Amino acid sequence: MTLSEAMQPNGSGLQQKITHILPITNRPELCFIRGEGNYLYDQAGKRYLDFIQGWAVNTLGHCPPAIQQALIEQSSTLINSGPAFYNAPMLDLASNLCQHSVFDQVFFANSGAEANEGAIKLARKWGQINKQGASKIITFKQGFHGRTLATMSATGKDSFTQLYEPKVPGFTKVSFNDLEATRAAIDKRTVAIMLELIQGEAGVIPATQNFVSGLRELCDQNKLLLIVDEVQTGIGRTGPLFCYEHYGIEPDIMTLGKGLGGGFPISALLTHRKYSCFEPGDQGGTFNGNPLACSVANAVFTEVSSQSFQSKSIENADYLKSRLALLCKKYSLPGIRGQGMLLALSTGENDAPALVQRGLEDGLLLNAPRQDTLRFMPALNIEKSDIDEAMTILNKLLAEVA
Ligand code: PLP
Repeated sequence: MTLSEAMQPNGSGLQQKITHILPITNRPELCFIRGEGNYLYDQAGKRYLDFIQGWAVNTLGHCPPAIQQALIEQSSTLINSGPAFYNAPMLDLASNLCQHSVFDQVFFANSGAEANEGAIKLARKWGQINKQGASKIITFKQGFHGRTLATMSATGKDSFTQLYEPKVPGFTKVSFNDLEATRAAIDKRTVAIMLELIQGEAGVIPATQNFVSGLRELCDQNKLLLIVDEVQTGIGRTGPLFCYEHYGIEPDIMTLGKGLGGGFPISALLTHRKYSCFEPGDQGGTFNGNPLACSVANAVFTEVSSQSFQSKSIENADYLKSRLALLCKKYSLPGIRGQGMLLALSTGENDAPALVQRGLEDGLLLNAPRQDTLRFMPALNIEKSDIDEAMTILNKLLAEVA
């Protein structure tokens, strides 16, 4: 069966081909063929307004000119020089990230989980050298750090608890936003505290200012590393380039993924030189820092790091928030959470996954991280007219269930 058969509107080829994919998630029986800006198009030519954008990944929307150009130029210059050599886009991206953050060294990887694995390893190595082998890391209930065995072990999702036992030991899970419980969990074997500043997969739950400032103090007092997982919140997703800027703190280690490549796989671990204890051979990976991925990330970063891009994105995110607030009021819903273009609407008694399904039918892609929560993670450059279109559809869906 050919790909074009799979794209027939009747979907018969599609159904056959689907059987060859391991069913690791429940996907709707459709196949996306094309993307442009805020829209995706399926095999039948149906158009969808995309408020998921690759799971908070497509920073500049689908197939943006900046990424197309970077791919064309870099793929005709150098695709892969190998991990044992420097290449120009890798060096430029590392410099860009360091110039715009509080960090001064970067390790590139290919997924958020891999960057987090790197952060866990760096903290453990640092503990070996500086804290008599301390290796325990405090993480938080409902937090999410990825799907490798170590990052699943660090993750606080209940549904992961029984999976793939035995897990990697050394992670102590504490209630999020509970400073006293965190303090109580620290012992002499503890080396780091790792958190998402806004728990994305848990339903967009922000850390409080008091909690984050308190964690910074706890880390300073107890000689612990503060690791922020900004895989979802980084690269302008919450307004400023990095979410830690909202809190006025300096983390010791930060991880990035998702939005960094704007749809192309690349992630990064950033740290300060004083914690940089990997020696040659300790850490690596075949595709790490490859020129193609780094040149795409540079193109994305050049756009997102401009003041005018950030101001416009914040303005439009505020607009989205205000439109959601109107719906909240109209349908007496519990509230809105989040920052920038990472927002959640509490749907109360209304079944959020059912709203997602109805949205799909009506050409609006939404996500429900919880039974009572819709999450909005559109492109950072979405315009008000697209936000209006989405809110019109959402209003209709909410009216149906009200
Ligand atoms: N960390 C956070 C906060 C995430 O939201 C995710 C993915 O959703 C990950 C890590 C894992 O990233 P990846 O799926 O690229 O491995």
